[in-house]
Amino acid sequence: MTGAADVQVVVLMGGLGTRLKEYTKECPKSLVDVCGKPFFDYQLDLLAAWGFKKFVFLIGYRADMIEEHYGDGSDRGISIKYSYDGEKLLGTGGAVRRALDLLEEDFLLIYGDSFMDIDYAETVYRYFRGKQNGSRALMTVLRNNNRFDKSNVVMEGDRLILYDKHNPAPEMDYIDYGACMYERSLFAGYPEDEAFDIAKIQHELSVDGKMTAQIVTKRFYEIGSPESLAEFSGYVTKRFSQTHPAIFLDRDGVINEIVWNDDIEQLDSPMRVEQFRFLPDAVKAIRTFKEKGYYVFVVTNQPGAAKGKTSLATLYDINTYMIDALAAEGAEIDDLFMCPHYPKKLPMTKEDFLIRKCNCRKPEPGLIYRAMRKYGIDLAASYMIGDSCSDVKAGSAVGLNTIFIGDYKCDMCKRLGDVSPTFIASSILEAASVVEDKR
Ligand SMILES: [Mg+2]
Repeated sequence: MTGAADVQVVVLMGGLGTRLKEYTKECPKSLVDVCGKPFFDYQLDLLAAWGFKKFVFLIGYRADMIEEHYGDGSDRGISIKYSYDGEKLLGTGGAVRRALDLLEEDFLLIYGDSFMDIDYAETVYRYFRGKQNGSRALMTVLRNNNRFDKSNVVMEGDRLILYDKHNPAPEMDYIDYGACMYERSLFAGYPEDEAFDIAKIQHELSVDGKMTAQIVTKRFYEIGSPESLAEFSGYVTKRFSQTHPAIFLDRDGVINEIVWNDDIEQLDSPMRVEQFRFLPDAVKAIRTFKEKGYYVFVVTNQPGAAKGKTSLATLYDINTYMIDALAAEGAEIDDLFMCPHYPKKLPMTKEDFLIRKCNCRKPEPGLIYRAMRKYGIDLAASYMIGDSCSDVKAGSAVGLNTIFIGDYKCDMCKRLGDVSPTFIASSILEAASVVEDKR
């Protein structure tokens, strides 16, 4: 299975940033200062944390400054190559075509003026999975309903059936998010020095049914105008320069019901989207956590795909469904961290790459560490809330307060060893009433 470390990232950085004139007179858009750091540093750090190592920057305006700032990437543990815009403006497609000699067989393409905090492991996984079924590209899409810009994508279930940015239609309720993956051969057919927009390739692929979709749930940030730059600065200050209390929530048995799975004749996590049911008061409790001033993160072990009971794609679908449904009820979660691994291969296992002795499967605290690398978190004021020993152990390991939900029986004490929960609650709603108000 190809992972992020093997995938090349191509970044379009040639834009002039005309709407940001007062900031870009001297400097390219990607280097505009945001809270003491160039804008693109935030996105590059994010991608490096997902494991991407190989980058190609497509540069034009003030190319010298970008090269001077990022160099060959070695001080960040990555490699960066450069492709230069010539005299003629080639559009997004032409700029990628011009870099053809530097491109690998498959690559992720993003824009140097966007901040997109999505699950890139899912992007890579879905792209290569799609390829096995004849797809040649992947587009990340956001349910938009004309919130940010004109919607331009028609989805049918999880299938992308039309992308057209020039002819908006009423059935379009998704928008292309800005991160895509492509086969190199899609660009090789164009003559060098021909100007064209990537939208042309995207439209043709969508009509041919060769475009895989990844539905993302988090808004993006861009710096196209002084207003959006100010908005991103505010976001960055909260996320990186301050610390905030957080609630780490286990998922199954806390947010949603454990279900009886006919397929496997066991009580288990939901293995299909239709099996996902919220527990009473979960939505209300999450709203309370948010109102009390906490980040809400979901940290969840989901070994179902590793055990062959479902696919990793379906596990992602279930999380996306939950996040969307919560947001629709005014209970937005801030992030979700999932461990899809299992240490042992089972007879039904199909996705072998999920079999791993990892450091993220609770009781290991790896998922919590991932959240800590991404956000400024005040650990002593934060809580891990779950219905099993492994939740309590994972939380204690990093110094969080812990709330155990359910009946606390004697065998629990034995399994917990010298660890004990800070509180025991009968329900998530009781847990929500126990946590301190941090407003
Ligand atoms: Mg649980």
